[in-house]
Amino acid sequence: MGITVTTTIDAAHYIPDHPKCGYTHGHTWVITLTLWFNLEDEEVKSHLERHHMLVDFGALKKWFWCIVGEYDHTLLNNYFSYPTCERIAQTIAYQVKDRLSEVCKLPVRTINVLVSESEDTNVTVTLELQDKFHEPPSTVQ
Ligand SMILES: [Zn+2]
Repeated sequence: MGITVTTTIDAAHYIPDHPKCGYTHGHTWVITLTLWFNLEDEEVKSHLERHHMLVDFGALKKWFWCIVGEYDHTLLNNYFSYPTCERIAQTIAYQVKDRLSEVCKLPVRTINVLVSESEDTNVTVTLELQDKFHEPPSTVQ
């Protein structure tokens, strides 16, 4: 089961030495986060049965903004040597991974971060998390 929130930031960037993108310009970046949960995991399953949701959308959006809002109305070159979609998505995905326990106590199987700088282009980063449910079930002797 995937839980998705989307937010946008307005930010400028330039790609050093790039013939077209080497000049400072701006985008409205659309940034989408999906947290994937394993419904076969007992903890996830019982949480869903009791609370009918895995993560509160409002809490997740607010938390996600704490990460990506830092880049809003900035020059992204102040944060990245090469602020391409790839580098931005990679950085945000690892920021999400490092801080995930702040917003979600359940085991997350996969983090997906999609960064788009225009309607027809985007980059997706997928981080597979090694959690306890990746281990084979212990056999009863
Ligand atoms: Zn650009």
